[in-house]
Amino acid sequence: MGRTNKYDVAIVGAGHNGLVCANYLARAGLSTVVLEARHVVGGACVSEELIPGSTWSSCSFVQGMLRPEIIDDLELAKYGLVSKSPDVQGFALWDDGDHYFIHKDLDRTLASIEKHSKGDGENFLRFAQRMKRFGDITRDVLLSEPLSRSEFIKLFEDEGEQELLQEFVFSSSLELTQKYIKSERMRGHMNFLGMVSTWGSPSTPGTSYVYGYHSQGEFEKVLGRWALPVGGMGAITRALAASAVSHGAVIRTEAAVDKVLVWGGAAVGVVLKSGEEIEADLVVSNADPKRSLTKLLDRKHLPDRVLKAAAAIDQRGSMARIHLLIDQLPGYVGFGSSKQGPEHEGHAILGGNVELYEKAWEAQRRGIFADEYVIEALIHSVTDPSVCNNRHHTLALGVQQLPYELADGTWDVHKEAWVDSVCEMLFRYAPNLRNHIVARNVITPLDLEKNYGLTGGNIFQASMVGMQQLLDARPLWAAGHYRTPVANYYLCGSGSHPGGGVTGAPGHNAAMRILADLRGDMNVRQVRTRAGGKTLIDSIMDTGIGQKVGFQVAKSRGLRAITKRFSKTKR
Ligand SMILES: Cc1cc2nc3c(=O)[nH]c(=O)nc-3n(C[C@H](O)[C@H](O)[C@H](O)COP(=O)(O)OP(=O)(O)OC[C@H]3O[C@@H](n4cnc5c(N)ncnc54)[C@H](O)[C@@H]3O)c2cc1C
Repeated sequence: MGRTNKYDVAIVGAGHNGLVCANYLARAGLSTVVLEARHVVGGACVSEELIPGSTWSSCSFVQGMLRPEIIDDLELAKYGLVSKSPDVQGFALWDDGDHYFIHKDLDRTLASIEKHSKGDGENFLRFAQRMKRFGDITRDVLLSEPLSRSEFIKLFEDEGEQELLQEFVFSSSLELTQKYIKSERMRGHMNFLGMVSTWGSPSTPGTSYVYGYHSQGEFEKVLGRWALPVGGMGAITRALAASAVSHGAVIRTEAAVDKVLVWGGAAVGVVLKSGEEIEADLVVSNADPKRSLTKLLDRKHLPDRVLKAAAAIDQRGSMARIHLLIDQLPGYVGFGSSKQGPEHEGHAILGGNVELYEKAWEAQRRGIFADEYVIEALIHSVTDPSVCNNRHHTLALGVQQLPYELADGTWDVHKEAWVDSVCEMLFRYAPNLRNHIVARNVITPLDLEKNYGLTGGNIFQASMVGMQQLLDARPLWAAGHYRTPVANYYLCGSGSHPGGGVTGAPGHNAAMRILADLRGDMNVRQVRTRAGGKTLIDSIMDTGIGQKVGFQVAKSRGLRAITKRFSKTKR
């Protein structure tokens, strides 16, 4: 029997957002096919055997932003997703051995920070409280159709929180951390989150939003907490795929779409690179927006001004992942041993330093490499040993603020020498590793484009620095509500609101928009809310005396139950 080539919906790309979208549409009864160019589903949320005998989260490596509503709606636990959250969540280390930990338990975190910098425990608590307030105000924005910029600003005005808006949306991540934190080193650690896929530095306006956006993640109902899926990030997309298939969706890999077919101004299907045609009443693209609008569509189908705007989508700002298979854990400076300890559990930032980020930005702008980078490091196998044999560990590094285009040559030419230089930087923090790297695999900004379909290597499909490409202007005004100027052609990837990260939100929101359009509710904004507003404890913590008392409570081990309640998100 021949393959059915007529569906209600064809989704281009099986990244996690394409799969989330497919799930909601299939559950609503639409016959849905997902067409993925690669041999495996997942896009940037994938596990692969990059080094023989070991499994790696190739790109994204931490599950913190995936919306709990989506995990529940799509029954991801039932379809195999198991995630483990380590007790040590963060670890900051400098090359003289100075360090501190971010634990799951607030009292231990505050004690560790106080040891690093007296007074900053209390400052950190104040900062965390502000971050929680930001998360509470903006959380409903994530799983709803985008607001306009002025509606978004009004959200804060209505809560009397204009200052919070300035801090976490418009200012730079440097200004944000300078306002709360005394220790230069601690600021260096914290600013890493503002540098993720950023074309800029800690002093670039809008990088505070990159920070704020990431801090909205949660796990086990605790804001800012993260976990590792057993088997790597691909476990998320495998569960999404299994859930979609069990509700009738068809998923095809090695099925690269060449063009979206348009007839009379409306999408009517796709043609694959193989020449096969698939008819569909609706086409949804999970590919990045520049690709979706300027490559998958013939130019003649878009008005000139939209074509120009699509070609100008800002996709600058990239990073590299370096995967190192090691046969000894890092013996970090100041710890003196490679025996497994808390320093191997968390997300580590090595050498966090604002000046280094500034220099990296200078190099990024010029298309060259900086002499030194701040490095992130995560050893997945410590929390989840299933990813390699018991003689090895999987150490993944991340370097941000990289240029995609080099002034001289290409990434393919410079890749190995550059990784050698990053390893030299790593050895300053973990000297023993010089003799314990068994094999390595590197994913450069160019590889992100060539192998993972991320144009320009931007890990969010489109830059998230600055309001000009956020909310209903993401990725551009003409496609700010998941619809495009071509009827029945939608976008559902992280290039759409609310943006990047493994959130599932763009896929969810696009599906809600499509289902509303099919119902005829073309002008009804799709909104998903949960309880909000200030809690009593939020109000108390807004006062100076409240913060003092709060700090005493939070640093007390005996009062953990209270601090746990304080850090829970509202659901
Ligand atoms: C190196 C790196 C590190 C990251 N770290 C984290 C992290 O730790 N935590 C986190 O939450 N987020 C992280 N992110 C961000 C996050 O992974 C992405 O924002 C998210 O996975 C994007 O998902 P998506 O479904 O929107 O798009 P994508 O994952 O980009 O999926 C798009 C899919 O479309 C396919 N496609 C493209 N063109 C075609 C075509 N013509 N035909 C068929 N298929 C096509 C692609 O192959 C791809 O599978 C990271 C990303 C990268 C790259």
